[in-house]
Amino acid sequence: MKAQPTASHFINGRYVEDKAGAEIPVYYPATGEVIAVVHEATPAIIDQALASAKAAQAQWAAMSGTERGRILRRAADIMRVRNHDLSVLETLDTGKPYQETSVVDATSGADALEYFGGLAGGLTGQHIRLPDGNWAYTIREPLGVCVGIGAWNYPTQIACWKGAPALACGNAMVFKPSETTPLCALKVAEILHEAGLPAGLYNVIQGRGGVGAPLVADARVNKVSLTGSVPTGRKVYAAAADGMKHVTMELGGKSPLIIFDDADLESAVSGAILGNFYSSGQVCSNGTRVFVQRGIKQAFLSRLSERLQNAVIGDPMDPATNFGPMVSEGQLQIVLNYIAKGQDEGAQLVCGGQRLDKPGYWITPAVFADVTDDMAIAREEIFGPVMSVLDFDTEAEALARANDTEFGLAAGVFTNDLQRAHRVAEGFEAGTCYINTYNDAPVEVPFGGSKMSGVGRENSHAAIAHYSQLKSVFVRMGALEAPF
Ligand code: NAD
Repeated sequence: MKAQPTASHFINGRYVEDKAGAEIPVYYPATGEVIAVVHEATPAIIDQALASAKAAQAQWAAMSGTERGRILRRAADIMRVRNHDLSVLETLDTGKPYQETSVVDATSGADALEYFGGLAGGLTGQHIRLPDGNWAYTIREPLGVCVGIGAWNYPTQIACWKGAPALACGNAMVFKPSETTPLCALKVAEILHEAGLPAGLYNVIQGRGGVGAPLVADARVNKVSLTGSVPTGRKVYAAAADGMKHVTMELGGKSPLIIFDDADLESAVSGAILGNFYSSGQVCSNGTRVFVQRGIKQAFLSRLSERLQNAVIGDPMDPATNFGPMVSEGQLQIVLNYIAKGQDEGAQLVCGGQRLDKPGYWITPAVFADVTDDMAIAREEIFGPVMSVLDFDTEAEALARANDTEFGLAAGVFTNDLQRAHRVAEGFEAGTCYINTYNDAPVEVPFGGSKMSGVGRENSHAAIAHYSQLKSVFVRMGALEAPF
């Protein structure tokens, strides 16, 4: 199987190659075979991308929002028409099953392009009345050149979630995908330009952290949006602060999911499965600390174990497969280490957690019971299919323990008590909360974290504030007096 792109980078409206950059092999996670090789951006490539973004931005910002939006909406239409091919590529890049990619990745990318394309024409400032007939107005301005840096779990979606609001607001973007999944963002760039985006406004360059760092530090860059881990977020945020750049940080989590004994058990098990095993557990907002009220612990665990028998682990391209491999050998090893650690720490491995004896990066979904708050598997982000089940007795106790973490990305509660559901949601220290559901992320709703899980919000009107700034203009209608 091969998925070699036309060239490694997409700059100034066309594919660009520069083989002087170090090779990045792209592995198909289901087999471990190399399906493509791209090259890291050299300093010359980084400069080309930033220079073309800088040169193109002013003219783009001068267009009407409606004109900009039309191009984004046209790109959304093209993405939908090509959903099958884009989904296959997403599966090759990440290993996620086609059953998921065909309904989540290009489709949610298209949603973002359509949504922000629709908003673009409605972006305005305000008129503000002041005393004595004076007034002021605000102008909503783009920030300039934005850098987007992606994680490997949702390469198409991340490229669109950052690109669509940036472009709608009149910015240019240089996007660096994760070195683990470098293929999909190139297709997003290709489609945007096919839809009429002027050259230079959406550039994709490849590389590891060593390419991300100079992008963040460059004086031509006005904003940095990162999706990645907390340690990387710390570095990128600090580097951006040096240049007083705007930031959006979408970082990691160790989110709680609290299941009360009055909850609908079948839905709660569904929530725990969706919140731990979708995309083989490689989802930032996953509810990996599942607090189950003591009275329903056995019923929950036995129903969960039964339902896990329905996991279809196999060829990700087979539409019947609903559980794929880990993205890489490195990520698989991290997960296996945590499983060994959980056992050493005394948690009970109820099921799963075994590497499959075949090529590729396969592991079965793992459930630990009798997990306590101090165990590494309950404190650290694993980013794999490992669910920790913890017991609790009272609401106050569950909420306090749920919040006892440095992370604050997401949190969920399952209960049929209406008031308790909202009380617990109010009490969660997290940016994105769920009641009787888990991991929804439609473009209309803000998404992002609190505490160490990040700053800023993606999606919804809220994202506009993170890709634009306001200029205030004061207007005096009469003569102006001064003390002398
Ligand atoms: P990572 O932090 O290792 O890498 C993220 C990106 O940052 C990559 O593109 C990488 O090349 C780049 N990078 C690394 N060092 C850099 C530096 N010094 N300067 C600039 N860029 C640098 O994360 P990952 O392993 O690719 O992804 C998994 C992590 O992402 C998890 O922690 C997960 O929770 C998080 N994530 C968060 C969200 C969210 O929306 N909150 C979504 C998906 C993933």
